[in-house]
Amino acid sequence: MTKTKREVARRPASAAIPSGWEYAPAPESRDIVRVNESYGLYIGGGFVEPLSNERYTTIDPAREEPLSEIAQAGKADVDRAVKSAREAYAERWSNLRPSERAKYLFRIARLLQERSREFAVLESLNGGKPIRESRDVDLPLAAAHFFYYAGWADKLEYAFPNRTPRPIGVAGQIIPWNFPLLMLAWKIAPALAAGNTVVLKPAETTPLSALLFCDVVRQAELPPGVVNIVTGDGRTGAELVSHPDVDKIAFTGSTEVGKAIARTLAGTGKRLTLELGGKAANIIFDDAALDQAVEGIVNGIYFNQGHVCCAGSRLFVQESIYETVMAKLKRRMRTLRVGDPLDKNTDVGAINSKQQLDKIGALVQSGIDEGAEIYQPPCKLPERGYWFVPTVFTNVAQSYRIAQEEIFGPVLSVLTFRTPDEAIEKANNTPYGLSAGVWTEKGSRILAMAQGLRAGVVWANTYNRFDPASPFGGYKESGFGREGGRHGLEPYVQLDGE
Ligand code: ADP
Repeated sequence: MTKTKREVARRPASAAIPSGWEYAPAPESRDIVRVNESYGLYIGGGFVEPLSNERYTTIDPAREEPLSEIAQAGKADVDRAVKSAREAYAERWSNLRPSERAKYLFRIARLLQERSREFAVLESLNGGKPIRESRDVDLPLAAAHFFYYAGWADKLEYAFPNRTPRPIGVAGQIIPWNFPLLMLAWKIAPALAAGNTVVLKPAETTPLSALLFCDVVRQAELPPGVVNIVTGDGRTGAELVSHPDVDKIAFTGSTEVGKAIARTLAGTGKRLTLELGGKAANIIFDDAALDQAVEGIVNGIYFNQGHVCCAGSRLFVQESIYETVMAKLKRRMRTLRVGDPLDKNTDVGAINSKQQLDKIGALVQSGIDEGAEIYQPPCKLPERGYWFVPTVFTNVAQSYRIAQEEIFGPVLSVLTFRTPDEAIEKANNTPYGLSAGVWTEKGSRILAMAQGLRAGVVWANTYNRFDPASPFGGYKESGFGREGGRHGLEPYVQLDGE
């Protein structure tokens, strides 16, 4: 059988597996999670059947097996959720003593910690991400976010001195599939802390952790209607955006949909924050600690299969160390273990959906067609499921699509530079501006680079490091508004003079 072009790109160049000892399987048990056959919409403190009567199937992308039937909320469902949030806002939440609001948020944080293994397994099952990451990154950070904003709930006047912060009302929140529970926490925690109620729509491919979160909301005895979860695809999102009684939209997702939302909301007076795509530069200077930098490169682009808006997808290496860095990087890539997300030794899990796999395949093919040189380490991929081998492109020109467009997959484009100024100029040559990384031993150079880079977050000698106290967000086509930290409260409060 002749292989299609795309198959060649998805599979490694050679099927040979490195010899030596193989790891024994170390699968995390699925038994801790109970997935229902179907779910309704979480509105007014309980699950209700969708008025739309429409459902779709959510799957496990690593096995292409169905997991559950999910409600596709229509216009009337969204309306019901917004009404419930409005009523809860007026009667139960906005006028509650702030220290009481804090108690609920602390409860949610503790429940997430207590149930973290259950959530981690579900997140890996529905999203394809390695259990090591959902267990050690997504869950601790989601809980930390609720803890952090619980602390702010009764201290808002200190966050905005002399400006009398007041809640806005009902927040419509739309999140993507790459960090389903963590994005939910980023959205819900500050909104509730500031006294708003929410209607949140998870991404269509990864609704399960948001639906399990409804059980945490129930356990925490949050007043009915304060948190409502409506599932469905982009159509449901669009209904939420255009609903006249929503006061604020917070969106994380693609730049294309972000632009459409901005167009819909223009002139309506609704508030908006957008956290969109990225094409971050990870810049390695010749004085950097190279082994650490190589770990940072790998973490920057292969973490979460590269489904990360701030992924370090463009690597800039100073010319004098190019050969050394590439040799070290390729050697490190050969040790990455791709496979079952529920195996505790897996480094790179499944691609989230067939649609995303096709998109990655098409962009990788464009890289080959435009003349870049591809490297993929040998590795054996499971027969079923959606997989993509960690890939690196060299010989990349700045104009190539793989250097310009967000791939949102485990694909790295390598470019070189000679001077710091050249690095800044090339790094900023992108429509995006979300994040960047700088690797050097020189503190003054770190500061100079951070000044020059047009990116919302600049990491120095580390990458993809998150903390709830630290704001995150972008410039240019990466969106506007910040999440995390005191800055993350701002989109959810009205201040005197506004
Ligand atoms: P991705 O390309 O990463 O899937 P999307 O921007 O398509 O990103 O999706 C992010 C979120 O936005 C998902 O929850 C999706 O259902 C939702 N969405 C998609 N289209 C629209 C739309 N037109 N209006 C509002 N939300 C949308």
